[in-house]
Amino acid sequence: MRSSASPMSESLRLGRATLRDVTPYPTERTACDADLSDNTNLFGAPPAALRELARAGADEISRYPGLHTRHLREALAEYAGVGLDEIVTGCGSDDVIDSAVRAFAEPGEALAYSDPTFSMIPVFARVNGLIPVPVPFTTSLDIDPEALLATGARIIYICSPNNPTGTLASPDAIAHVIDRALGIVIIDEAYAEFSGGAHVTNAPQHARLLVTRTLSKAFGMAGFRIGYGTGSAPLVREIEKVRGPYKENAPGERAAACAVQEDVEWMRTCAQQAVEIRDRFCGALRANAFRPIPSAANFVLVPIRDADLVARVARDAGVALRPYSALAGIGDAIRVTMGPWPLMERALEALISARDRIQRDRDQATTGLRP
Ligand SMILES: *Cc1c(COP(=O)(O)O)cnc(C)c1O
Repeated sequence: MRSSASPMSESLRLGRATLRDVTPYPTERTACDADLSDNTNLFGAPPAALRELARAGADEISRYPGLHTRHLREALAEYAGVGLDEIVTGCGSDDVIDSAVRAFAEPGEALAYSDPTFSMIPVFARVNGLIPVPVPFTTSLDIDPEALLATGARIIYICSPNNPTGTLASPDAIAHVIDRALGIVIIDEAYAEFSGGAHVTNAPQHARLLVTRTLSKAFGMAGFRIGYGTGSAPLVREIEKVRGPYKENAPGERAAACAVQEDVEWMRTCAQQAVEIRDRFCGALRANAFRPIPSAANFVLVPIRDADLVARVARDAGVALRPYSALAGIGDAIRVTMGPWPLMERALEALISARDRIQRDRDQATTGLRP
């Protein structure tokens, strides 16, 4: 029997209504000389991970992963300073956050966060049937604890250092939210290796606090897709229920475990370089009349007009930067990941020439309009 052609009715629509405004994350990238767009470790990959990857055996490809799960969790637990049952891993920290949203909130409940933040947060809210509730930062770009708490949200998400601003939430403000929140608090510490001072170790002492971390940024292993979270054992168990099995790939799991055990010093050296270069780069930006937002991470947000156009012009010059349009309280801006200094010189040149070219075109356009 064939169904007759009829206009798409409400009952026939393909996706859930809550997905209507969600667009897939654009992961496809074209190669670029100087790719400063994704906050990964531009100083390289950890030596132990490279060594272990070269040793991947047939079993790791033909069989399900999981042989090294305990090894990875042990390595991460030791690094984070928590017990083995206080750590949960996932396919990137994205997976841990997404699973936590599903584990702790019913559809229709709210997820509050300071805006602007990690672009996946409103998406994780929507795809899990939650309502994203953006809350403004304070004028000094700190989180506003009272405003976050006033949402009554089931989940409050705090990113510190925050992507894309690079700013830290003050310890008092974070403590206030943890003390007073009625639901779950997620602190995303994807960039904590660059800032020091962190909640990853103390998370299990709070019944409703999850702290997420990743091997994608300072640790230089974004390609492996491994992230983790720390929290009390019962909290971590709830996340494991909804995350599902086998989220990490076997060679990555084994290589990452070795890197976390052997290459912490290597990671710290890279992070230190990124921080030094960030401060030098910000000085160069200011010397050229830019006003970068002071950052505690391995990237810098630079407010600039026509960010999309600036990014396109820079891209044509072989430099990939991340543009943002109309960020709350900031406006258009470009995010630049720190890498070896020669790359930063190219980024600076690209920013200056894009800005000047756009300004020139604009001046010409207005002159042309005059009678
Ligand atoms: C990059 C990033 C992540 C995601 O990292 P993965 O572990 O690669 O999924 C999470 N949070 C923030 C704020 C990030 O910038």
